Order: sequence, then structure tokens, then C-alpha cells
Amino acid sequence: MEYISQEFIEKAKIQISKADRIIIIAHKNPDGDALGSGLALYNLLKDKKKEVTFIVPNKLPDYLNWLPGCNTIMVYEEQNKLVDDLIKDTDLIIMLDFNNLGRISSLGDKISGINNEKKILIDHHLNPDNIAELIYSRITSSSTCELVYEFISETYGENIITKDIAECLFLGIMTDTGSFSYNSSNPYTFNVAASLLSKGIDKDYISDKVYGNFTEHRMRLLGYSIEKKMKVIYKYKTAYIYLTQSELDEYYFKTGDTEGFVNYPLSIKGVVFTAFFVEKEDGITKCSFRSKGKFPANLVAKDYFSGGGHLNAAGGENKESLEDTLVKFEKILPEYEKYL
Ligand code: 5GP
Ligand code: MN
Repeated sequence: MEYISQEFIEKAKIQISKADRIIIIAHKNPDGDALGSGLALYNLLKDKKKEVTFIVPNKLPDYLNWLPGCNTIMVYEEQNKLVDDLIKDTDLIIMLDFNNLGRISSLGDKISGINNEKKILIDHHLNPDNIAELIYSRITSSSTCELVYEFISETYGENIITKDIAECLFLGIMTDTGSFSYNSSNPYTFNVAASLLSKGIDKDYISDKVYGNFTEHRMRLLGYSIEKKMKVIYKYKTAYIYLTQSELDEYYFKTGDTEGFVNYPLSIKGVVFTAFFVEKEDGITKCSFRSKGKFPANLVAKDYFSGGGHLNAAGGENKESLEDTLVKFEKILPEYEKYL
């Protein structure tokens, strides 16, 4: 099966071959798919002797700091002057796993100043903005990593995929599908996974790095969150967890520790919509949403929380306190009763 167009392949191939200096960018709070797709391309372009830099808006989580090439990633929040200079001089920018410039925070302002002709976007979110001349968007894809696999194999041949590249791509497919439990019913996704496994990667090692490598503090924070900080609203088949900064401090929170918390209440019988709210240092509240079936988590994120995402996995933020955010959330639930 082939989805990517010949036109995209040919144009992107020319762009890449003409470019000496290439920048790769993935979204803020980078997850497995963002980092996996970015590092896969980073490693490929390094092998092609390009001067390539992978930039993310903010720090990567510890549970992903073992990926091949991850110690070369530049964090815009920490190195903005250096990155600004790199952007000015770049020949090509490849953007991955986001559909609008708001997803890369203040880096978006810099990128919007660069001509779209120098930009390529590969992504699997709904309705990408017109942020690049060349866009490969397929929302039926499990992940951006699946799309990057498709792009690399159709453009350069499957043989160019090394074990390191395969590890990065498999990681992103695995994390974006919750270990192949959702968004992965298309046989093509498994064909890609099979091809990546044939590169000699150790699937169990990758899975253990992500799901079997937590600190004791993180485990206890999860227990506390479920026991003390989860509210179930059966009338609306909804459950949510909420945490304050001081609670995070109490459990020695590290970036990435609350990844996946939002999924737990979804395993309660009858619950189809879950949310996770966490107070940020700057007083705003970060929101994550998950759903089952046709319930549009992304619509809730878009309508009320300046966000978006996929039907069953979305996120956003609210410029109000945690307490006010919870009041708002409970108030809007009746509006979505028709999807239950
Ligand atoms: P998470 O809950 O894991 O942070 O995010 C789940 C998904 O929701 C992401 O893969 C992304 O598609 C989307 N998402 C998360 N945060 C935001 C946000 O602030 N804005 C938008 N547009 N989408 C988000
Ligand atoms: Mn993704």
C-alpha cells in the first residue's frame, strides 16, 4: 500500500538534495512520536552528510533520553540566541508532528518569518495550517513516525533505514498507539512495524525503556492521583485527575512523570471521556484529554482549552487557575452529552 504522492516525494527529494543546512522541528512537550520522527530524520540526514540540527521548543522527558542522537537535540527555551542564528542561515526546515505554528510556542514567530518555499511538513493531525509549501498530511496514519517511514522508504529505498533509525521510528509508532492498542487497525501500520523489526531492533528493550523505567516517586504519584485526585462523573461518562504544583513537588516531579496518567480513568467501565489537569508554574493549567469511540476529545480541547489534537487524544491549556479550570470543565460537559 502506498499513500504518499509521487509529487511530494520528488519535490522533497530535490529540496533535501539542494540543502546543506537543514533544521528539523517538532512540537513543544515533545512526546515519543515527535522525538522519534525527528531523530529518525536527523540520523538519516547525518548519514547523508548534511549539516542538520533538531530543535524542540522545550526540554525532553527523561523516559526518552536514550534515543539514538537525543543528546544533540537543541532546546529553544535554553539556547534561543543560537537557534535564532541557525534559523536565519538555514536552507530547509522540516516540521514534524504538528499542524500549526502555535504548537511550537515562541519558535513559531521565528519560523513564520521564513519563506514557506523552504519548509516541509509531515504530520498526522487534522487540517494542517498552510505553514509549508510541501505538506504530507495523513490523519489515518498511526503516527508521524509511520509517515516518516513511508517517506524515507519511498524516497530513498527501505535499505537506507539503519537500526538506529528503525529504533526511533518504532518508538514513535509504539507510543502514539499505546503499544498498538488504538489508532493501529490498518494492516499497513503492522507492515511498517514488521519492516522496522527486521532491522534488528529490540522491541522489548524499547518497551521497557518507556513503560518499565519509572522512579518510585512517579509510581507513588500515580497511586496518589488515582486514590485522592480522581473524580468520576458517571452522568457524563467522564472522569478526570487534577494535580497542583505543590503535589508534584511533594513527589519530586520530573518532566514526563505524569505522561499517561490521563489514560487510567478510561479503563473504568462506562467511562468514555477522561481529562488530566495540572497546574503550571506560570499559573496556567495544562489539559490533556482522552476518549473512546466517537467522543471528540479534540473538539472539547479546541472549543474551550485553546488546543486540539486527534479525536481520541487531545490537549490544550487554560489561562485560569486549576480550581477555575475544573469548574469550567464540569460546566461544559452537558454540551457534549450528544456524543456519549
Ligand atoms: P498530551 O495529552 O499527550 O499532551 O497530548 C495528546 C495530543 O493532543 C498530542 O499528540 C497533540 O496532538 C494534542 N495536543 C496536546 N496539547 C496540545 C495543545 O496545546 N494544542 C494543540 N493544538 N494540540 C495539543
Ligand atoms: Mn503524533
